[in-house]
Amino acid sequence: IKEFLEKISDTVWEIPVSYKEGMRVPARIYGTEKIISELDEAVYDQVTNVATLPGITKYAMCMPDGHFGYGFPIGGVAAMDVEKGGVISPGGIGFDINCGMRLMVTNLTYHEVKPYIKKLVDRLYERVPAGVGSSGFVKLSRNDFRQVVEQGAQWCVNNGYGWEEDLELIEENGCIKGADSAKISDKAIDRGFNQIGTLGSGNHYLEIQVARKLDIFDPELAKTMGITMPDQVVVMFHCGSRGFGHQVATDYLQRFLKVMDSKYGIKILDRELACAPFDSPEGQAYFSAMKCGINMSYANRQVILHRIREVFSEIFERSAEDLGMHMVYDVAHNTAKLENHVVDGKKRSLLVHRKGATRAFAPGMADIPERYKNIGQPVIIGGSMETGSYLLVGVPTGDQTFFSTAHGSGRTMSRTKARKAWKGETLLKDMQKKGIYVRSTSMSGLAEEAGAAYKDIDDVIEAAELAGISKKVVRLTPIGNIKG
Ligand code: 5GP
Ligand code: MN
Ligand code: MN
Repeated sequence: IKEFLEKISDTVWEIPVSYKEGMRVPARIYGTEKIISELDEAVYDQVTNVATLPGITKYAMCMPDGHFGYGFPIGGVAAMDVEKGGVISPGGIGFDINCGMRLMVTNLTYHEVKPYIKKLVDRLYERVPAGVGSSGFVKLSRNDFRQVVEQGAQWCVNNGYGWEEDLELIEENGCIKGADSAKISDKAIDRGFNQIGTLGSGNHYLEIQVARKLDIFDPELAKTMGITMPDQVVVMFHCGSRGFGHQVATDYLQRFLKVMDSKYGIKILDRELACAPFDSPEGQAYFSAMKCGINMSYANRQVILHRIREVFSEIFERSAEDLGMHMVYDVAHNTAKLENHVVDGKKRSLLVHRKGATRAFAPGMADIPERYKNIGQPVIIGGSMETGSYLLVGVPTGDQTFFSTAHGSGRTMSRTKARKAWKGETLLKDMQKKGIYVRSTSMSGLAEEAGAAYKDIDDVIEAAELAGISKKVVRLTPIGNIKG
């Protein structure tokens, strides 16, 4: 444990403003002593850089799954007061705008699915294209695509991809207001218009999972979310806005670098923290463009959901309705959203950046679907293809992080190091022995994603629970996986 860390509690560690010139607020890192002692040291520098940004409120924070990222740490949470010159920063959102997790249940048990797992995964691998630069089956013109990025998952449901009920179970009902396609470049359109319904590469995945009996920690909450029996099979997937979001972020990073200092006099410690005042033409343009990225990824996940229903329905020769394939929730972990929060007794309008961090609203808060009003917002967290994943809910004490929690287990090892440590082919065989059938577009890509390249997911979730930023409901075990 570094000498500059002040222990606030067993799971909260503070770096005071004296640590670095220009810090406006202290930095706070979440994690148990074990997590902190193994933390990537680059995080200390990054999170304290974030603490220097104009408008930052309370703390620059890093969740228990935190690790090194572009400018901001992944796992970073930063709330900017937009009435006090607060900034918007693409590095605090991530290149994969609105990357997120979606979870769907079935009424099948492990026993029923096991004989079909290979067939299911193989068929899903055909229907949900994965890998760098893959394109989807939804044929859109560039103009259609402009509509998609303004209408999100609502466009999909209107065009036959999914059910009306799905929309209520997506943040913003699957369409964030204020997305303006006039604010995005032709290059972004070119990169995105044929990528709807694709998974992407790296750690994006589509996974078939089981809720084992002993892993249902709160049966009442689980039931409200549709997990009603032991060994129930669910499907979780993780992807974002693909090349489109990446291009939007790239375009605006360049634009911000040009005006940040010369026009607005903002000095930053790292070019990767490029930003603009939220209340500036540039800041507002990016906010509208970023919302197009948000809608693109809702649409992307909506089409994938539809494909999964089609495939299950084909293989089991029953309708998706009959198989009970209802959504649990869709939640993002790379966004900035304008939210009202009470800070020191006063209501403030904050732009909450969550980069590799999940929103976790408490029971009763606005913007939670009716079904979850009393239990809190579902939080969907991936662990790794080998270990497990989690379904959690938000809690009232989450106000300390502006109602944010972890989004994954978080890497402990760089991709390069992981590629040297493991062979994809061996991993594949070992996983098969453990009962996990995997398809991947790249064997070296698979090696980068070995379970041991990540923090222990159980430790991360435990830390989040002890800190009071989310509560565990179910742990999910993988049985089939498609890796990007
Ligand atoms: P990120 O959003 O930062 O790209 O990654 C999200 C998280 O997903 C990672 O921190 C990791 O814990 C988790 N993850 C990566 N690959 C897999 C996978 O194949 N299956 C599951 N269940 N989780 C994964
Ligand atoms: Mn992503
Ligand atoms: Mn992600």
